[in-house]
Amino acid sequence: MKTGEKDILLSGMQPTGPLHIGNYVGALRNWVRLQDQFAGRLFVFVADYHAMSENYDPKERQEQILTLVAEYLAAGLDPKKVTIYVQSHIPEVTELFWIFNTVTPVAFLERMTQFKDKSGRQKENINMGLFSYPVLQAADILLPKASLVPVGLDQVQHVELTRDIARFFNNRFGETFPEPKPLLTEIPKVMGLLDPEKKMSKSVPGSYISLMDEPEEIQKKLRRAVTDMGPVTDRSKKSAGVQNLFTLLHEFGTPEDDAIMERAYQDGSLKYSELKDLLALRIADHLATFRARRAKLLANPAALERMLATNAKKVRKMAQQTVKEVRQKVGLST
Ligand code: AMP
Repeated sequence: MKTGEKDILLSGMQPTGPLHIGNYVGALRNWVRLQDQFAGRLFVFVADYHAMSENYDPKERQEQILTLVAEYLAAGLDPKKVTIYVQSHIPEVTELFWIFNTVTPVAFLERMTQFKDKSGRQKENINMGLFSYPVLQAADILLPKASLVPVGLDQVQHVELTRDIARFFNNRFGETFPEPKPLLTEIPKVMGLLDPEKKMSKSVPGSYISLMDEPEEIQKKLRRAVTDMGPVTDRSKKSAGVQNLFTLLHEFGTPEDDAIMERAYQDGSLKYSELKDLLALRIADHLATFRARRAKLLANPAALERMLATNAKKVRKMAQQTVKEVRQKVGLST
């Protein structure tokens, strides 16, 4: 898509432990592609305030944050093209969040499907953070006045809410924020290995491949992946499980791998065990490079911290400008 130099694009992920290949293909690699195509400014943050709404161990958090930053860089995000920062280093976002709370109808939040999903999953901890998460997300996006948010389909509802919040605020207090649009790039959805009708997620053990899995583990998990339930009668449409393996081969393998396996599938000679073993090899090779880069970056945490401190200063300056303008508009300052 064509973007202008003034466009600001923003995205982020929660530091909640090892990523899986779904996050890698669906988010990280997509951002890496965007950094080369996008003419405007790109911000990628570590959503540590957001991550507090789910159960976690505070002792692990700092390490998880730094690890995610290393993973952003190891996946190919270029700090010259992308400003990587930690959400909580910009406390202004919580002030904007509060102000946005006062223009957000509760009924709008009650409709959010992610809240329904997450509150179903952690019934013992349905906290306000889980409920007001999309309002904080609106503050993340509108603090730098981002105009585009690259998201998967499941997040479109939250970006729509951000647009509503921007509009409600502008109507009540005067034109201040852009109404950002979701940037729906063609992100392949990686499905669960054991339940290929659902997207790959950490909530189903054995169904996901972690970026930290060793080659044997990857092979073991792929060998158990669900393929066809019975004989294939129509080769024009692959079953969800088989399609998922092909999607992954396309992402991690070579064009020849794709062509050879597709031909074998079409003429009925494909053994799924061969497809799975080739795929395991390709994923393991790819991840070995990623992991070597990640380990090198993590061996020098001071350099990562320095980058984060510099970026925090830069982003805060911009955040303070927005908050100053907002404070004046809502009557908190002159
Ligand atoms: P989550 O931790 O589920 O919020 O995911 C973090 C990022 O990874 C989001 O941008 C998701 O859209 C993306 N993502 C998560 N799971 C998948 C998947 N199975 N396939 C593709 N993208 C995914």
